[in-house]
Amino acid sequence: MIKSLSILWHYAQAQRNFRRWPDRATLERWQEQQVQRHFAWVRQRSFYYAGLAEGGDWRRIPVQNKAGLMGHFQQWNTASISLEEASQTAEHAERTRDFSATLRGLTVGLSSGTSGSRGIFLASAAERHRWAGVLLARCLQGTLAQPHRAALFLRADSTLYQSLGSRRISFSFFDLLLPMAAYAERLRALQPTLLAAPPAVLVALARLPGAADMVAPPALVLSVADVLDAAEREEIEAAFGTRVGQLYQATEGFLAATCPQGALHWNEDNIVVQKAWLDEGRTHYYPVITDFRRTTQPMIRYQMDDVIAEPEHPSCPCGSVFGVLGAIAGRKDDVLQLAALEGGKSTAIFPDFVRRAIVLGAPAGVEYRVRQSAPSHWDIFLSDLSAAPAVSAEVGLLCRELRVQEPALHFSPWSPEPLIHKQRRVQCLI
Ligand SMILES: [Zn+2]
Repeated sequence: MIKSLSILWHYAQAQRNFRRWPDRATLERWQEQQVQRHFAWVRQRSFYYAGLAEGGDWRRIPVQNKAGLMGHFQQWNTASISLEEASQTAEHAERTRDFSATLRGLTVGLSSGTSGSRGIFLASAAERHRWAGVLLARCLQGTLAQPHRAALFLRADSTLYQSLGSRRISFSFFDLLLPMAAYAERLRALQPTLLAAPPAVLVALARLPGAADMVAPPALVLSVADVLDAAEREEIEAAFGTRVGQLYQATEGFLAATCPQGALHWNEDNIVVQKAWLDEGRTHYYPVITDFRRTTQPMIRYQMDDVIAEPEHPSCPCGSVFGVLGAIAGRKDDVLQLAALEGGKSTAIFPDFVRRAIVLGAPAGVEYRVRQSAPSHWDIFLSDLSAAPAVSAEVGLLCRELRVQEPALHFSPWSPEPLIHKQRRVQCLI
């Protein structure tokens, strides 16, 4: 009962917050007050952050990352949990597939991360309730008054979501081990009002006959966990007859969600986002997150490994002043590198640029994967190799635009990755 009330309270707050501030300046003043108050609290309780806080100015804290979090685990968290204790709980859960165990009332979460570096994350019951409330508010977009049936396709543990089930919203879980056709009947019988899945799963469902009958109109369809590109979004939207939203949610926190106008907004009533720019033109950045709500494992100036593209239009007509993301372009090691034409300096080729070049060259529906295995060599895998000359031409065009040396391209037939794996279309292996 307390749990439901707490979630509902956070839901109502998050609903109100989305359009609460009239302009950016007012929002930013409010955020600054929140961070300062929060940071004063954190400095009293996290030995790690206390040591970093020069003169108490949170903006002067060096940028943090997962390696630092793991290296200073016990001093960092405010519950004095050691890395050994947390690892044991997390490993036990992985082994037994029972994720309900807690450590002194805290949930322990695992994240795999880009280069295999594992992260361990802690959250209290109160933090989980807040997360749940904000998640429901941003996903359901004010439709909690009607009963919801949610169908979730997840790679990871579903305990967090199971704990959200109530009279108003029921959850059905689908694993990713069977071919999608096996789930079509179950979806038709369930008629979900909310369908959340990685984009490759949504595409596989969209390509089944009668995809529109698998959801109750007007269903909310959400892409989670992997990068959603424009071609996939169009295909999914056409099949289900509804707009596809995105959730940017990681073990580090629930960071952004799509608004009713289709723009992806940062959850700026919980976090402050600073930008670590990746290029001189300021088109892409790593988000540096300061979460002014998280208390068990504070996140102050914590840099994510995700590459975010700036939007063409910085504001959105939906009425929220929360900052807009152009796109989640990929992970840190999805960024390819080529030598500049003049001077030979290594230049970042962002994964969204590569995906756009391939999609422009290949006919709709052609599957692809790009891997860079040497400084000027790309392997391109295509489900239809007759598209190779056109794809080559588009890659050449992209390189001329970016003023970098063209890589040697090697084309091979594409084969599907199991859906249970993270789907990475563009990846740098050097
Ligand atoms: Zn918006």
